[in-house]
Amino acid sequence: MFDSLMQKPRVSHDIRLIRVAGDPREECCMCGTPTETWAEAKDVPLCMSCAETSNVFSIPTKRQWLVSLGVNLDPNWRPYST
Ligand SMILES: [Zn+2]
Repeated sequence: MFDSLMQKPRVSHDIRLIRVAGDPREECCMCGTPTETWAEAKDVPLCMSCAETSNVFSIPTKRQWLVSLGVNLDPNWRPYST
């Protein structure tokens, strides 16, 4: 799914973005803009502009993001990376 790691020359606050290949793009977990970049630490979609104005503690967890989308998660669901 992830084609390559993306260098982040200008993004600060320790959010490393991963660029995903192709469509469909997910909507940024902060602003809702379709984006092809994801925050590596939380595994949620995050656009570059939000990455520049956020830090890793201010973005939702994958569970919070999925719940915000209306996904009905199993109580035992766990993200792959925590
Ligand atoms: Zn955004």
